[in-house]
Amino acid sequence: MIHYPASILNLVKQISKLPGIGEKTAERLSLHILRSSQKDAQELAQSILDVKDMVRLCSQCYGLSDADLCKICSDPARDASVVCVVEQPADMVAVEKSGAFRGRYHILSGALSPMNGIGPDDIRISELLRKIEGQQLKEVVLATGTNVEGEATASYIAQILESYAVQVTRIASGVPIGGDLKYVDQVTMKKAMEARHDVGSH
Ligand SMILES: [Zn+2]
Repeated sequence: MIHYPASILNLVKQISKLPGIGEKTAERLSLHILRSSQKDAQELAQSILDVKDMVRLCSQCYGLSDADLCKICSDPARDASVVCVVEQPADMVAVEKSGAFRGRYHILSGALSPMNGIGPDDIRISELLRKIEGQQLKEVVLATGTNVEGEATASYIAQILESYAVQVTRIASGVPIGGDLKYVDQVTMKKAMEARHDVGSH
């Protein structure tokens, strides 16, 4: 490594800061960039700067966006009366990939976690309530995680929404297929038990 000029060593240093990239991979990627065309190198550098300059939070759903409103919130074909509540932008992407949802989203930016000191004021619950009050929502789908924090968040929101004239639904959850029961946390297990169905023949 020491035999490289300082500019290459610096590139290797910057690339090794990325998660999952060791020094060897960083060295290989740096040499690849060195061999690539001026245009490709410029586009790579510019795309990194663009992400930092342009990406902001959508003013409606708090998802990642290049404009004030994201693609989903500005799409008139999406059903604005149904809102899916998720914890993080990546969860919204996961629901979108499923193709099973045609409404809009509300991103909480976290989940309730008393152990880590994250309470209702630390995630976007009041923003959700304002949205429900301001727009005529028909349904709120609670799609927070099925771990302890996600379930606690869904229960908390469902409880608050009891006094609102809006239907509240929860994505189906349970013991994951192929999952070992002893690794399933108790809240998940409780849900799975309560939702048990008859598989007998009589
Ligand atoms: Zn949006």
